[in-house]
Amino acid sequence: SRSYRAGRGDIPRTSCGKLLNQSTVTLTIMAKTIQAVRGMNDILPAASAAWQYLEDTLRDVVHAYGYQEIMLPLLEKTELFKRSIGEVTDIVEKEMYTFDDRNGDSLTLRPEGTASCVRACMQHGMLHNQVQRLWYTGPMFRHERPQKGRYRQFHQIGVEAFVMAGPDIDAEVIFMTARIWQRLGLQDTVLQINSLGTLAARAVYREALVKYLREHESGLDEDSRRRLDSNPLRILDSKNPDMQALIEGAPQLPDYLDEASRQHFSELCALLDAAGVAYEINPRLVRGLDYYTKTVFEWVTDQLGAQGTICAGGRYDGLVEYLGGKPTPAFGFAIGLERLLALLLAADTEIPSNQPHVYLVLNGQQAVHRGMVFAEELRTRLPGLRLQTNCGNGSFKSQFKRADKSGADLALVMGDDEVDAGALILKSLRHETDQETLSQQHAAARVKEIIGLD
Ligand code: ATP
Ligand code: MG
Repeated sequence: SRSYRAGRGDIPRTSCGKLLNQSTVTLTIMAKTIQAVRGMNDILPAASAAWQYLEDTLRDVVHAYGYQEIMLPLLEKTELFKRSIGEVTDIVEKEMYTFDDRNGDSLTLRPEGTASCVRACMQHGMLHNQVQRLWYTGPMFRHERPQKGRYRQFHQIGVEAFVMAGPDIDAEVIFMTARIWQRLGLQDTVLQINSLGTLAARAVYREALVKYLREHESGLDEDSRRRLDSNPLRILDSKNPDMQALIEGAPQLPDYLDEASRQHFSELCALLDAAGVAYEINPRLVRGLDYYTKTVFEWVTDQLGAQGTICAGGRYDGLVEYLGGKPTPAFGFAIGLERLLALLLAADTEIPSNQPHVYLVLNGQQAVHRGMVFAEELRTRLPGLRLQTNCGNGSFKSQFKRADKSGADLALVMGDDEVDAGALILKSLRHETDQETLSQQHAAARVKEIIGLD
């Protein structure tokens, strides 16, 4: 926005912010306010309690299974993602934020966490003669078309388990995801699973699939035609509605499974059955890359429109070797937190508040002086208490307005009279109850009683 005040005559409109003819004219060109990068969201205070609740719950659940946090950089060498995610994927072909740094090294803002996690485990020798159960969380970056449930900066929590080859760990990780939805009070989530088999089994399937797709080449869209040679399995994952009928008619992966993978899959299903975790077998659920093996799974919901996958995971026994390590079994998933949050907000789960319990109203110079110290004493005596002190004076009326806006349940009021008497006034901000006068000494016990701190 721009405003001009011309002294004499008219000022030529100009798009640059220079002051023209300073001696005779005052010209103010206010800079256009800077907006966030498209697709990158601020999480404002009104939404942060729900985020924190989500993060706390997720952390509790992964810890309940003995997983440890690994904290990874946001930037990695571009090569890591090119190699691990694969050159012929949406992410690497068109979604990465890649740039040369000042040394001319090509770096990329991480589009996902698995690659970094594997890189870190290899770099720190964490995969020798030991198993690892790890989790991470944080922002990921993909240059996609922003829309509901799809952003350019979004957040994931991911879990990776290394050096365990059996269906038991697959089941454990899937149980963990089921427990997350349950803890969050989410009901409309559906688990889909499939097995990709070994690389050898998949090669035979791939041939059959390519043969079928070639026979129907006229029905393929441009992306799919391009992937026919490079990554045909990804075609099954196409979101183009015009291709769904063609995809439905394609040969199905489960018919090509090798015996060991079949066995692994049926044991996984038996474990899910035994634990009462319902699932659907989706024969078209795939991953395009060679290092994926055996189990794949997704949790989907119809509550979020087109962006209905909230969690995707599976086994990737080939990745560590692919990145230069020893052959290492691996299983993991990532949850999209924005989508999960949207689901949480639509459910009627109660979200704990982070707003203050108590607002301290201070009227008069002595009251401010004593009140600041009293507030510290109260916080020391009542860990867990959220207490906001009025700063910057103000009339009773304006202080009570702030108190109300703070979300606090209680106001404690101290004026200079109360200071002299060692007293306080306690007033409910939410209920029509009489105010109480109490001694400062007894305030902690009374506050604790009213707000129910443990
Ligand atoms: P999609 O098919 O929706 O593009 P994807 O296969 O690219 O998903 P993954 O790489 O498997 O997704 O990421 C795991 C999860 O992260 C997804 O299931 C989704 O919940 C979330 N996610 C992925 N991309 C985005 C995005 N751009 N914005 C918000 N969440 C995302
Ligand atoms: Mg995607």
